[in-house]
Amino acid sequence: MIDTHAHLSSRFNQEVDLSKLDWLVLSASSLTDSKDNLEIAKNNLKLKPAIGIHPQEINDSVEELEKLMTKEVVAIGECGLEFTPGVDKIAQENIFRKQIELALKYQKPLIVHSREASEETIKIISEYPNLRGVIHCYTGGKKRIAKIPEQFYFGIDGNITYEVGLEEVVRNIPKNRLVLETDTPFLTPVPHRGETNKPEWIEFTYQKVAEIWNLDFKETEKIIDENARRLFKIYL
Ligand SMILES: [Zn+2]
Repeated sequence: MIDTHAHLSSRFNQEVDLSKLDWLVLSASSLTDSKDNLEIAKNNLKLKPAIGIHPQEINDSVEELEKLMTKEVVAIGECGLEFTPGVDKIAQENIFRKQIELALKYQKPLIVHSREASEETIKIISEYPNLRGVIHCYTGGKKRIAKIPEQFYFGIDGNITYEVGLEEVVRNIPKNRLVLETDTPFLTPVPHRGETNKPEWIEFTYQKVAEIWNLDFKETEKIIDENARRLFKIYL
């Protein structure tokens, strides 16, 4: 099993058990997170650091972010658009595009965060034919699946275990473009809802997808993990 999106930086201060996981991508929301990820990853080969600036952290600088780039970095993100009331949409778009340029320059996949901004996000990522990545915690619904550029994957999280509407979405995502995420410490799956999420609980999300696909756990795991390896170019 592979967790393609977890937050384990010092602000969350969590112990993790990685024994059941092949590896895990450390998502970053800010410059501080990005530095933390690089630091945490030094101690464990299974932890793969991403660096990025979340749309709620638009005062952080992408120029500073680029200075953190090392060969260990596996992705840029999470970055994107979050059009909740009162936000500076122009500033969000600017910092998003700068991180897209960074991903292209270093040939890294982009981890895209999109909230209340599905159409705008799709429009922007579609402008860059060489850009690849994942739509983190995909919430664009069934009808937008076909609009997502082919070189993008769909990240599905623990809420699939309790949001019935998402099952139909997952059924419509091409099997070879689906990856799983915990978004630790958030989005805890059933049967642990209400607790702080942990990477090892991704097992329940794999199980749910296996049920939706009507495949056994091992077959499901094989397909999903091959997708994750292809996306992040990590062959551990
Ligand atoms: Zn996240």
